[in-house]
Amino acid sequence: MAGRVDLDGNPINPITICMIGAGGFIGSHLCEKLMSETPHKVLAVDVYNDKIKHLLEPATLTWADRIQFHRINIKNDSRLEGLIKMADLTINLAAICTPADYNTRPLDTIYSNFIDALPVVKYCSENGKRLIHFSTCEVYGKTIGAFLPKDSPLRQDPAYYVLKEDASPCIFGSIEKQRWSYACAKQLIERLIYAEGAENGLEFTIVRPFNWIGPRMDFIPGIDGPSEGVPRVLACFSNNLLRREPLKLVDGGESQRTFIYIKDAVEAVLLMIENPARANGHILNVGNPNNEVTVRQLAEMMTQVYSKVSGESSLETPTIDVSSKEFYGEGYDDSDKRIPDMTIINKQLGWNPKTSLWDLLESTLTYQHRTYAEAIKQAMSKTTAN
Ligand code: NAD
Ligand code: UDP
Repeated sequence: MAGRVDLDGNPINPITICMIGAGGFIGSHLCEKLMSETPHKVLAVDVYNDKIKHLLEPATLTWADRIQFHRINIKNDSRLEGLIKMADLTINLAAICTPADYNTRPLDTIYSNFIDALPVVKYCSENGKRLIHFSTCEVYGKTIGAFLPKDSPLRQDPAYYVLKEDASPCIFGSIEKQRWSYACAKQLIERLIYAEGAENGLEFTIVRPFNWIGPRMDFIPGIDGPSEGVPRVLACFSNNLLRREPLKLVDGGESQRTFIYIKDAVEAVLLMIENPARANGHILNVGNPNNEVTVRQLAEMMTQVYSKVSGESSLETPTIDVSSKEFYGEGYDDSDKRIPDMTIINKQLGWNPKTSLWDLLESTLTYQHRTYAEAIKQAMSKTTAN
């Protein structure tokens, strides 16, 4: 760790980071990286700590004096401002961010992604503290190309689908399509942060993650989360594979996504943390444009990879189609395609993702199999016995 320098060759001084939502998927990987590769301190704020327990205990860990867990719900806890004041930088990851919630719990979604983030922005601005705020690629909504006729040659033109931070419009569906409650709340908090920067000098970076995936993402229903819960696609498909059920393709699985390995993505966040002069004032896409697939292709690839890592044969019918109304309920809608433009992050931080979709699925599904296969077997044999 000694002699670490930033991208401009200046020495990196240790800082204290108040990380809100540190106990979640991204937070756990970021804490892991900060502990193992840097001298920085983390004040880890969350309502849960299961995903970072291995970083908090035992007290003999080499970084034990550099990470503290604070069990705080930021909705209603006066300790938050004190922690932000103690830190040099605040990273806000806290959010309701699973699509199954956007149309079924729109109020909680809007409160979590907008109202609950307001004090964090205010405390940073009033106390002259730097903020890295996690937004989402969903703020882009649908692509312009989605509105062209299906056979239009313009659909092949990147100008109609590549998503650029400083140029692409944010295109959401009608209000009754409550799917967009999340994107809309995230967009408004982005605008507020941007305005705090412009009017009050807040030093900020806004991150727009494009489908970051890897170990510890979400939960497996009935094992470490509610049986009826619907996590994001990686955990839904993992759950189906572990239970030897067909993978469910919502509305035919035609939507397209670019998936990035969490370990590549947190490299970009570390560069933002340690290069404030390059990251401040920017909105940054973080994704892997080379890993684009349709959801159907993702299902096929996950089925092949899982078969390889588990040694189990694939099902005769590996996928089934399901309507979005049946799967998510009324008010669901979808982003058609999400390819991040990488110009700004390349220019500011010289960062590029490395891991192919096959490789990231192989390490992630190896983890899912090792972590859950036995628990699922036991849970399923109990259900059969009853
Ligand atoms: P996650 O659900 O795993 O983590 C969020 C964490 O925030 C959870 O541990 C949760 O307990 C905590 N939290 C929520 N409300 C809180 C509150 N009121 N007080 C204290 N803690 C609270 O999600 P994630 O995938 O790690 O996402 C982190 C951030 O990145 C979110 O803001 C999300 O919108 C954004 N994001 C992630 C992705 C992705 O690909 N994973 C994509 C787009 C946006
Ligand atoms: N999806 C699917 N089957 C599932 C879960 C999700 O077909 O079991 C689809 C979903 O409709 C969307 C894509 O997979 O088109 C990605 O969903 P995810 O929940 O990961 O979040 P999103 O990328 O939409 O934010």
